[in-house]
Amino acid sequence: MKYIALLSVLIIGCATPKSTSTSEFNAQLELTKQLEGAVLWYQNSAEMRLSYYQAYQYARLLMDDKLANDKSTKPPAVVLDIDETVLDNSPYEAILIDKGETFTPKTWKEWTDEARAEALPGALEFTKYAKSRGVEVIYISNRMTNEMATTIANLKSEQFPNAEEQYVLLNATTSDKTERRNKVMETYNVLVYIGDNLTDFSETYSNRGLDMGKKMVDDNLNQLLNSFVMLPNPMYGEWEKAIYDNNYGISDEIKLQKRKAALKR
Ligand SMILES: [Mg+2]
Repeated sequence: MKYIALLSVLIIGCATPKSTSTSEFNAQLELTKQLEGAVLWYQNSAEMRLSYYQAYQYARLLMDDKLANDKSTKPPAVVLDIDETVLDNSPYEAILIDKGETFTPKTWKEWTDEARAEALPGALEFTKYAKSRGVEVIYISNRMTNEMATTIANLKSEQFPNAEEQYVLLNATTSDKTERRNKVMETYNVLVYIGDNLTDFSETYSNRGLDMGKKMVDDNLNQLLNSFVMLPNPMYGEWEKAIYDNNYGISDEIKLQKRKAALKR
C-alpha cells in the first residue's frame, strides 16, 4: 500500500510539469466529445427535420396573418439568420469531432470558404413563398464581412432568393445585430424574424443571468410568439455562453466544471 502511495506521489510528481497542458488538452477533447450527441441529433433525427418544417410553417402562418392586416406604408420583409437557420453547418461540427478540436475562427472560415452548407428543411420553401407574396427576404448573420462572397455563393448554390450583397448583412464591427435590424426597419416593415438564437430577435437575450434567460422568455412570451420563430440548435449558441456566466474566455476545464454544475438532478 505504502509502495503504491509512494509510486503515485512519484508519478504525479513527475507528471506535474506537463500536467497543465495535458489537462487542457483533455478538457478540450472532452468538450468536443460532448458535442457529438448534439450533432448526431441535428444530422440524423427525423425529429429535427419536423421541428424545422414546423417552425417554418409557423413563420408562414405568422407572415400571412400579418400581411392580411398590414397597414404599414413601408414594404414588408422577413429577417432571417443564416447559420443553422437557412444553412446547415453541422458537417463543420462533425469535422471538429473528427479532429478533437473546438471552434476557432480559422477552421470556421475554412469551412465557409468551401460554400457547401446545405439548405435546412423548410427554409427554401419559406423564403421563396415570402418572395412570391411580395415580402423581401433579408439575411442578418454574424458571419464576418470577409465571408461575404462565399456566403452569397453558398446561398445561390442552394437556390435561396435574394442571395445578393444588399440583402445579406454580415458582422462588420459587432456581433450585436441591433444596429443592422434598425437599419432594415428604416426601409421595411419587418413581419417576422427567424433564427436559432434568441439574439437573432433581440440583444436583450445575450446576457441571461443565473436562470439562463428562461424568465426573460416567459416575461416576453407574447412578443416572441408574435414576431420571432425559434429553430432548435443543440450544438452551440448563446445558451451555452450562459452556462459559462456569459464568458467564453474561461478555460476549457472551467467550462467542463460549469457544464457539469448546470445539470439538474
Ligand atoms: Mg445562427
